[in-house]
Amino acid sequence: MQRVAVFPGSFDPVTRGHESIIRRAVPLFDHIIVSIGENGEKKPLFSLECRLRWLEMIFKHEARIEIATYTGLTIDFCRSRNAAFILRGLRTSADFEFERGIGQMNKMMYPEIETVFLLSTPEYAAVSSSIVRDVIRHGGDAAQFVPEGIGFNDEL
Ligand code: ADP
Repeated sequence: MQRVAVFPGSFDPVTRGHESIIRRAVPLFDHIIVSIGENGEKKPLFSLECRLRWLEMIFKHEARIEIATYTGLTIDFCRSRNAAFILRGLRTSADFEFERGIGQMNKMMYPEIETVFLLSTPEYAAVSSSIVRDVIRHGGDAAQFVPEGIGFNDEL
């Protein structure tokens, strides 16, 4: 059976931390669906189209990586795509506590799912989309935190 993983997130914007986790997961799975969740409660800084376009650009040469969007529960999206794995990244103990709750509740609702965690590499442990958004809002240079080729000038 194909090992299909969903890597869910907001990617507002995608960072080098996300990119690193996704690339490191390529040898672990046959297919990775990087999935932008549309969450009604969060108002993103960047449009869905823009976040989708960036992810497609970054992974255009990776045959095993697909970019998708979804609404609703991540586990329902996983079921619809026959994905038995949810991939998540861990930076800090705060990430762990947050992820533990989601992962364990997802397991109760969908026992076949396994959440797989990769630890962030040390150089990206401090990188977060929310801090990148703050840097951009205040006119700072966020280039070192986001994948090559991503520019913000036309997107806001
Ligand atoms: P969400 O809104 O679900 O938190 P994000 O786009 O912020 O979505 O993050 C998606 C996933 O990427 C989460 O598992 C998060 O912990 C992980 N992640 C974010 N930044 C990093 C980083 N710098 N290093 C490793 N993992 C990260």
